Amino acid sequence: MGKTLPSTAAKRGFNASTILIVLLFALVISTGFFAIVTTELVRTQVNERKYLVDATNAFTNTYSEERNKDNVVPAVFRRLAIEHLDMVKQSEADQRETPITMRMPGMPGLEIRTVEADTRIKNIISRIGMGDDRSVYEEHLIEDDRFIGRTIFPSIASNENCVSCHNELLGSTRYKLGDVMGAYVVESDLTQITYTNLAYALLTGGIALLGGILVVRREHSRAGRVITSLEGQVTAERDKREAEAYANFLSSHDALTGLSNRNMFRDRLDKEVKSYKTGRQSGTFVALIDLDDFKLVNDSMGHDAGDALLIEVGRRLNSLIDSKNGLTARFGGDEFAFLVQLGSRFTSADQLGEEIIQVMQKPVSFRELSIQIRCSVGVAALAEAPKKSSISLLKAADTALYSAKKLGKGRFRIFDAELRDCMVRRSELAAALPDAIRNGDICAAFQPQIDLNTGKYRGFEALARWTWHGQEIVPDRFIPIAEETGLIRELDLLVLRKAAEFAVKLEKSSKHTVRMSSNMSALNFRTAGLAQDILFILSETGLLPEQLTIEVTETVLMENWGEVHDVVETLRAQGIRAALDDFGTGYSSLSYLSQLQFEEIKIDRSFVVDLCEDSQKRALFSGIVDLSKGLGQTVIIEGIETEEQANFVVGKGAHIGQGFLFSKPLQEDIAADAFIENITYGNNYINLRKTA
Ligand code: C2E
Ligand code: CA
Ligand code: CA
Repeated sequence: MGKTLPSTAAKRGFNASTILIVLLFALVISTGFFAIVTTELVRTQVNERKYLVDATNAFTNTYSEERNKDNVVPAVFRRLAIEHLDMVKQSEADQRETPITMRMPGMPGLEIRTVEADTRIKNIISRIGMGDDRSVYEEHLIEDDRFIGRTIFPSIASNENCVSCHNELLGSTRYKLGDVMGAYVVESDLTQITYTNLAYALLTGGIALLGGILVVRREHSRAGRVITSLEGQVTAERDKREAEAYANFLSSHDALTGLSNRNMFRDRLDKEVKSYKTGRQSGTFVALIDLDDFKLVNDSMGHDAGDALLIEVGRRLNSLIDSKNGLTARFGGDEFAFLVQLGSRFTSADQLGEEIIQVMQKPVSFRELSIQIRCSVGVAALAEAPKKSSISLLKAADTALYSAKKLGKGRFRIFDAELRDCMVRRSELAAALPDAIRNGDICAAFQPQIDLNTGKYRGFEALARWTWHGQEIVPDRFIPIAEETGLIRELDLLVLRKAAEFAVKLEKSSKHTVRMSSNMSALNFRTAGLAQDILFILSETGLLPEQLTIEVTETVLMENWGEVHDVVETLRAQGIRAALDDFGTGYSSLSYLSQLQFEEIKIDRSFVVDLCEDSQKRALFSGIVDLSKGLGQTVIIEGIETEEQANFVVGKGAHIGQGFLFSKPLQEDIAADAFIENITYGNNYINLRKTA
């Protein structure tokens, strides 16, 4: 693609040589026209002049014969004939504008009687008389600003009478037979005709010039079109190739950061695994990097800031390794990955983890802002992965990352024996979960929700429980597995059904309304028909829509909250309420709060934990409560464990409380008893507001 074609404008412009050629062409045409027409005119004129003289001669000959052979025709008579013919010609010439005149020069012979002052003509006649060639003499010249065509005819002594008559008159023996005794001069005035001819020649030249320009222009534009279409083909070809190259690039790279993408990373990893298995490679490590609170940056500062941050993170990570012994990739969102050969650059997994954390420490500047980034890192060695495969190694690194995140922000964790056990267990759980759902091994526990104004149970939150081989598995372990394996919808609907059945049963026995909150993974909103499934469960169990709150939980990054919005709207139309769960954890954010208009907001336990110690948190907490109340939302505080916390949240005007202070999640029958006891006897919490 190195060559560039000259611009179309330059190609279409006339250059000096083209102009010169066109001018020359016009000149040749006009000159040619002029020459041809002039030659023809001159020839005609010459003929006419000859004809005139022939006519004069014929006239005198006839006259001479009439008179009788031996009598001479006097020169004066010849002159009269000439004058007569001249007059006739003149009148004809008037119409044709080419006047022809005849005259008789005064020298020599009888013609002396006519006055001829032109010595040049006299000399010509003398020369004709003296020479052997006595033919007609032709000349063309400019005289007194006129163009003249002239024919001089020698008058030759043709009989004795003429000769003697002349000699007698001259008083000498000057002439003998065959001598030139005089001449006729016949002239055409070609001035007018020459000018007209010139004008026509110029016109022809002009037309030729115009024609030349048109032809040249047409040729140029045709050439231009050819070049333009050539250029078009070249450009189209280039665009196609560039598009192909870009598509190729995108199939293996991330468009935003230019780093490799997951596919390319997997390809490279597969190769590393292969060479590990053949014993050629032993130090392959994978590090998975996840930015902490990236979503907050995106939501609060906008996507431009988020993009700038990701680009910078990619650049920094890439600066840590060279392409020979490693690969940096972006897996999507705020997830990055590293593939490294331990050796010259990194000598241990710890060094790798530490350097990644280090390189992120410098704040990223975006416009006038400075963004502090932190990341969590999980590092795993291929040699440590439970199965020596790419998938297993990635899972190991992911397990390490998950564990690093649990340690807090800005930490790294190496995949070790402990995590290895965890991972193995996790895959065992994943294998057992489908049966657990179908066999009813998953059930629901119910945690009371307390109305902080009255101290009475408002209802319960249903929480999934799984007992496997006599051991209770916490939801935090199996919910992500269910989400990953596509079982989450089945699981959530199962818990909802159990919750609805429990509420209806309890309502019947207690004669009191029982409100129920059930969790629904945000992932479920992506699949069609969720609202219909929920409504179907309500109609089957008999729980009224007004008694149900769907808590939207988000354990994975959700890009498209539009789908959640649509389902929530459908459910709302039926009277079902929606709650934004875990508010303040980084997953959920203020933008959802305003966009989705949840009826309830559940402020996360992590907010409540150090509420009493942390004044900043207290201020933030008050702000959120005020904001939610301002939006008309019911504010639920999760994880209340102490009276101090309860007093504080009650003082701030929160509506509902949930936490171990009031009750742990309870098995069905215990929850029912607790409910009846609460509505029958009330409890101490009724006075919370008063003591706050
Ligand atoms: P969550 O929805 O925020 O549920 C509240 C969690 O906090 C429950 O944990 C509960 O036992 C715990 N909790 C309540 N009060 C306190 C307290 O005062 N102190 C402490 N330390 N913890 C408290 P659990 O049951 O382990 O559930 C964990 C998470 O798993 C839930 O958090 C929810 O996000 C998810 N989950 C539970 N059941 C389901 C379900 O059926 N479907 C879905 N999608 N997610 C579920
Ligand atoms: Ca919940
Ligand atoms: Ca929660």
